Amino acid sequence: MKDLKELDKKHFIHPTSSIQQQQDKGAKLIVEKGEGIYLTDTDGRVFIDAMSSLWNVNIGHGRKELAEAAAQQMAKLSFSSTFSTFSHEPAILLAEKIASIAPSHLNAVFFTSGGSESNDSAIKLVRHYWKIQGQPNRRKIITLKRGYHGVAAASTSATGIPEFWDMAGHLMNDFLHAESPYEKTTEQAITSLRQLIELEGRETVAAVLVEPVQGAGGVLIPPSDYLQEVRDLCNEIGVLFVADEVITGFGRTGKMFGTENWGVVPDMMTFAKGVTSGYLPLGGVLVSDQVHDVLKGKSKGTLFHGFTYSGHPTAAAVAMKNIEIIEQEGLVENSREMGEVMLQGFKKVRKNVDIVGDVRAVGLLGAVELVQDPDTNKHFSPNLQVASKVIEALHQRGVICRSVTYDSTDIICFAPPLIISQSEVHTMVERLHDAILSVQKEL
Ligand code: PMP
Repeated sequence: MKDLKELDKKHFIHPTSSIQQQQDKGAKLIVEKGEGIYLTDTDGRVFIDAMSSLWNVNIGHGRKELAEAAAQQMAKLSFSSTFSTFSHEPAILLAEKIASIAPSHLNAVFFTSGGSESNDSAIKLVRHYWKIQGQPNRRKIITLKRGYHGVAAASTSATGIPEFWDMAGHLMNDFLHAESPYEKTTEQAITSLRQLIELEGRETVAAVLVEPVQGAGGVLIPPSDYLQEVRDLCNEIGVLFVADEVITGFGRTGKMFGTENWGVVPDMMTFAKGVTSGYLPLGGVLVSDQVHDVLKGKSKGTLFHGFTYSGHPTAAAVAMKNIEIIEQEGLVENSREMGEVMLQGFKKVRKNVDIVGDVRAVGLLGAVELVQDPDTNKHFSPNLQVASKVIEALHQRGVICRSVTYDSTDIICFAPPLIISQSEVHTMVERLHDAILSVQKEL
């Protein structure tokens, strides 16, 4: 038997990880198999995957139907290009399927291999859209502080979490970050957005790009009228509204797409993650009929943008089967119902411990904030690393979760698979309760 931990240290550079920690302690967990909401490591320990791994394993682990869909498609046509108008059935049918479940006027899809590529593609498509209409100066992309849009060239600059900027050296030109609506009123957040746009000159702005719920920023759910106000502002100043649905798409928030919770329809949507439940990499950009009409009518020559794996046939076949499962098993409804059970559970935990502040969820996307004093919302000193301690206590109790500490706010995020049952939600919440109590005692 090979020493996986040693080999990992020696040969594997992990994404979004501390290399130093890896070298000191080795891999945190070496996962061997997954089944339903559970992951099992190489020592046989079983964990609840309370984050659906990276907010993406929506239909849960170990679904043979997806393995069979991949095997069948691979045996028939594993790969073939979609460049230069070559095409194939899996990509065509998937584009049609996604158009049919997306809000009514979003009907055309550009495929990518993941979320970062989707946002980079959306940004280039937006600029192309303005350029071919004779407005090449509309290049600026407005996003939000605490937003996460990925780590490719443009999506790094679109991201509003400064830690992700360091490695790039500096941000690309023409990216601006307005205030997040988190802990603000809609009026304050919209005023920040409007002021930024006016300051820059509205005729230079191409698009506003936001997540319906800021995920990696700490599951920040906006005030109920915020997204509609963003939509109205974009209409007023004549810029495109792009929703990053990479986390919120495909049932995560109790609707097929996150923006539907607030009755708002964007001009473009980027998606990835839940479209295949992570079984194979795939993402894309959905565009409105209006945007598509402009592209169809005014694009001359080649669209010089495309990925080798745009519309990968095997990934497309897996996405198709995944969406079929989401629909047939009523997973969007389950996300809504179990999300409510999870939120009620969080509220009970808050009552029974001393260090929980705000709790929130929309569908199965939720968060619990840890605070020194819930009455005044006083945060813990970052030195105490309270969120990391709770994550460790959860880990010891068989729950894999993720924390975000930003501006000294300690947040524990939850996004379990959409197949989770009521008793499994209860178990997950009980373990959270237990983990918080143990950390509380230690403080
Ligand atoms: N957008 C959002 C909202 C995300 O949460 C993520 C990934 N966490 C991305 C984009 C980037 O996706 P990927 O990691 O697949 O490139």
